[in-house]
Parts: sequence; structure tokens; C-alpha cells
Amino acid sequence: MTDRSASNHPAEAAADPSWSRRGFLLSAAALAAIPVLIAADPAVAAEELPDFPADVGLYRSAYRNWVGEITADGLWACAPTSPVQVVDVVNWAWRHGWTVRARGSSHGWSPLTITAGTPADAKVLLVDTAPHLTGLALDSPSAVRAGTGVTLEALLTYLETHGLGVTAAPAPGDLTLGGALAVDAHGTAVPAKDEERTPGHTYGSLSNLVLSLTAVVWDERAGSYVLRTYDRDEADCAALLTHLGRSLVTEVVLRVGADANLRCVSRTDIPAAELFAAPGLDGRTLASFLDEAGRVEAIWFAYTEFPWFKVWSVAPTKPLTARHVTSPYNYPFTDSIPTLVADLVGRMASGAAWYLAPVLGSAQLDVAAAGLLATLSADIWGPSKNTLLYIRPTTLRLTANGYAVLTTRAQVQRVVAEFTSFYRERLTAYAALGRFPVNGSVEIRVTGLDDPADAELDGARAPLLSALRPSEAHAEWDTAVWLDVLTLPGTPHAEAFLRELEQFLLRAFDDERALARVEWSKGWAYTEDAVWSDEEVLGTTIPASFGESVWGQAAGVLDRLDPHRVFGNAFLDRLFR
Ligand SMILES: Cc1cc2nc3c(=O)[nH]c(=O)nc-3n(C[C@H](O)[C@H](O)[C@H](O)COP(=O)(O)OP(=O)(O)OC[C@H]3O[C@@H](n4cnc5c(N)ncnc54)[C@H](O)[C@@H]3O)c2cc1C
Repeated sequence: MTDRSASNHPAEAAADPSWSRRGFLLSAAALAAIPVLIAADPAVAAEELPDFPADVGLYRSAYRNWVGEITADGLWACAPTSPVQVVDVVNWAWRHGWTVRARGSSHGWSPLTITAGTPADAKVLLVDTAPHLTGLALDSPSAVRAGTGVTLEALLTYLETHGLGVTAAPAPGDLTLGGALAVDAHGTAVPAKDEERTPGHTYGSLSNLVLSLTAVVWDERAGSYVLRTYDRDEADCAALLTHLGRSLVTEVVLRVGADANLRCVSRTDIPAAELFAAPGLDGRTLASFLDEAGRVEAIWFAYTEFPWFKVWSVAPTKPLTARHVTSPYNYPFTDSIPTLVADLVGRMASGAAWYLAPVLGSAQLDVAAAGLLATLSADIWGPSKNTLLYIRPTTLRLTANGYAVLTTRAQVQRVVAEFTSFYRERLTAYAALGRFPVNGSVEIRVTGLDDPADAELDGARAPLLSALRPSEAHAEWDTAVWLDVLTLPGTPHAEAFLRELEQFLLRAFDDERALARVEWSKGWAYTEDAVWSDEEVLGTTIPASFGESVWGQAAGVLDRLDPHRVFGNAFLDRLFR
């Protein structure tokens, strides 16, 4: 994670036979994912992409996902300046047998954009949204129109200047809105005990804020792809609200509401045994903080006992002890990797020292505890975006699995207790065998579901493929517990461990009380040695977790709107087979 020198470029390194996959992953993880767009030689472009729309510039561009597990060198890419140009590009791709992959910030894990091993000469065209599809305007005092290339930070900053905001948002500000909506991106919030939802807000995912969206879809009568706007009450819209990259959305209108000031208090003084205790015990449990404030996150570093626990609360005026923050990213010690952590990661990355995981776990906790004190960030307060956004792309690049467990509010502590107890038991059992599959942390957050009524639009529909889609069989479920485990890419035994965890989650939370779904952007469908691979999970468990008919409906709409599969890749073909 520390060596950013040019000589460690993965492409060069990969040519060296002594270079291991693990070393490659670790080095790649240190590289920025921002695409470098270098204008192509027009003659080469004309030869390889004949008749390409003349007014859209072409580039050769490497693709690299968040941890560098999925990379491609030298794919063709373009950055249309308008939705009309996007349509021209898509029609060109359809006529010439290419596929189109919208690219936001590439800050995800799963193969939703391209699959690993995509060769440079593949007929795959990346469409970068962030350079130009960035318009922002208020449609009404409670609705914002946004280009899908806009970053979440730009969106939230714009809203803040108009006194508007959201209840919860993903932690990184550099994700694009299009990328976030594709995967039902979420933050952490449920109503505190006596809290009422504020108009314009949702406790569900960002997809649940959509009022309308404009997508590039096939038009049978025109015999080409066209731009079409879908309102939230249209059946097809439900499939497009969370589409996993099986469409291309250029613009959305989101419902928004009055901004709130939030306080965020961090602490590292509650033992995991107490915070994650089985229900029924008194004490400082995670559920007790949910009742108090509704917004929590636990970051539990591997082999440590005291999680970094954050509690956000709505606080119109500045609490006496809180520090007023006027910008986001207030945990600088997590955004630049301290030497101690970097050294440890370096030693582990060298291949022989994975047993240092417990040392790394406690170093990360020490850094957090000391950093909170040193930077006066244990108690901060300000307009919502300043505490909702807290991860920069310079943070340690780890790989992650992810699940949402739908349940009732009353069952949250049980879900947390059963998951953490299984995790702890397996981690200990692996350690006894000299195996250390996790060297990052467990992260736990809690949200509401995608109640379409939150959009405040008659006939609004719930996103078909959002992990937060309410269950038809269990209308009483109103909450989702989000569970992630983070570890360095290439960590030995990680896949086997994460498979055990996944099999546990899918078994333990599949009854009258709870249901586990996968978190699209992260790791799932684990086999003993690979992720996104288990056929049973891909082909059966995931569709069943949404309901076969809902799954079939979504797949059918996405196919009808893109019958030529211009928007897709081999992995999405397996998922939507
Ligand atoms: C460090 C880190 C922290 C994260 N924290 C959170 C979090 O707190 N909460 C959360 O929910 N998620 C979180 N994520 C996951 C993140 O929300 C997703 O990976 C998201 O898809 C990333 O957005 P992006 O702009 O990088 O999209 P990309 O990775 O570029 O694209 C993701 C998918 O969206 C598609 N896509 C992008 N733009 C469009 C468009 N305009 N039209 C159609 N399809 C499009 C792509 O083709 C691809 O299929 C985190 C990720 C990282 C790396």
C-alpha cells in the first residue's frame, strides 16, 4: 500500500514472471482509480472504430476498480458532452457489435462494469460520465435534477447551499450519482425512538429518492436506441432504479428535503461483547444507540475488542463540546495511511507475514483512537454532508464482502449478535490453524427499507432490485442491517472464510424473522477460492432473495429496454441468465 513508485506499475510488474498475483493486487490497490484520458491517434481510432460519431472524442484508457482486482489496459473510452451524444455513441456501438459500459469513479468491487481479464482489444467502450454529465438544478423546492456523472460531494454541496440535504449517504464523496444509483447505495439511518421522517427524506437507499430518470433505451418503432424519461410510477422505472449496469442513465430527478445539522460522536470505549451482546441484556448495545439517535456505524478491527463506534444525532444547534466542521472528511488519520500501518501492510504484502493480522488490527484501532483525540474529531457537528461524507480515495484499499439483512427493528440486536458471534468464533478457529483471513475490519450499519411512499409521488414503485426492496411476504420488516468484512486483497484463506460467513448468513437469515440479500457493489457468491462464482448463489439464492417473479420481471424489463445487450458483460449475463 505504500509503494507508489512508477517501477511498481502493475502492467510492467505483470510481465515479470517473479511477480505474484498477490503482489500485483496489493500494488494495484495503491493506485488511484481515476481514469487517465489520453486523446487517441485519430487514424488509429478511425481504423478500429469506423464511423464513430465525429464530435465525440475517443481515448485509450485503463480500467481499474477500487482494489485493482479487476483491471484492463487500453480499452477505448469516450466522454460524451451531452445525453444526445451518449445516444449517438450507443447507437454506434449497437450497429458495430460493441458493448457500452458506463463508468463513474470505478470505486466498487464487483464485476458490474467489466470482468477480470477483459483484453485491450475487446469491443468494450467505456463511457465516462464524470467529465460532462454533471448538470445540477433545482426543479422545485424539493426536487433536484442531476446529471449522473455528478459526484455525491458535488450533489450534497449543491443541496446544502439551497438548505437541502439527505438523511443518509454513502461515506465516500467521490462516487458518481449514476454509479451509486446502479447499486442502491446507502448510508446508515433509521428513525430514532420518537423521530418522524422529515418530508423529502428516506431512511432507504438513494434509489428510493428518484422521482424520474432518463435512460438510453431501445425503441422498436424508431429502430434505434433513444433517450426516454421514466417517472417513478411507471412499471419500467422500477427496474431502472437499481439496474446493476444493465442500462445507461443520463439524468435523474431526486426528491430532497430540508437539510439538518448532524452531530457525530465517535468512541472506542465499549467492548464488542457489550455492543454486540445477545438481545435481552442491559448495557450499551447497538440497538440502544439506534433508539437514542437512529444513526450508527461500528468499525470492528480484526482481533480487537473495542470497535470504533460512531453515533450521529440530529442537533439543530451546536452542542457545547462538539467541534463545528465546515467541510467533510474529518478523519484525516484514515485518509492518509500512517507509517505504522503502512509498514505492517508492506510486510504482509511481501508474502510471508499474514500472521501479523492481529498486530495490524490493533494498530488500526490505536491509530483511530489516537487520531480522534489528536484531530479533535471525536465529537463533530455541522450541516449533514460534513459528517455523512468521511472517506477519501486515499484511504487504505481493502476488499470487502457485503450483505443486507432485512428484518424488524426489534430484531436488529439479534442479527448483530448472531453474526458477530459466528464471525468471532470462526476467526478464532482459523487463527488456531495459523490462518488469518481478515486483517481489516467488520463494519455494521443499519438503514430503513425503500418505502416508495417516501418519494411523495402517487403510485411510486419500489426499486425491483434494491437490497432494500420491502419484502412482499413480510410487510412488518422495516429495517436492514448492513454487514461488511474488509481485508487486504490477496489475503490467503479469505475466500474460504468469507464463503463460510456467507453460507451462515444465507442460512441463518432466511426465515420468518429475517432475510439476507447481497450488497451489489461488494463481494458475494464465494466459493472456496473465488468470489462472484458460486453457481447456487448466483443462479438460485439471489433471485429467490428478491422473489422469482420480481427477479424475472426486472430481468425482463432490462432485456426489453436493451434487447441487443449493448449494456452488459459476461458476468451480468450469468447473473441475469
Ligand atoms: C471505499 C469505498 C466506500 C464505499 N462506501 C459505500 C457506502 O458507504 N455505501 C454504499 O452504498 N456504497 C459504498 N461503496 C460502494 C459504491 O457505492 C459503489 O461501488 C458505486 O457503484 C460506486 O460508484 P462509482 O461512481 O465508482 O461507479 P462505478 O464503479 O464506475 O460503476 C458502478 C456500476 O454502475 C454503472 N454505472 C455508472 N454510471 C452509470 C450511469 N450513468 N448509468 C448506468 N450505469 C452506470 C457502471 O457501469 C457499473 O455497472 C463504497 C465503495 C468504496 C470503494
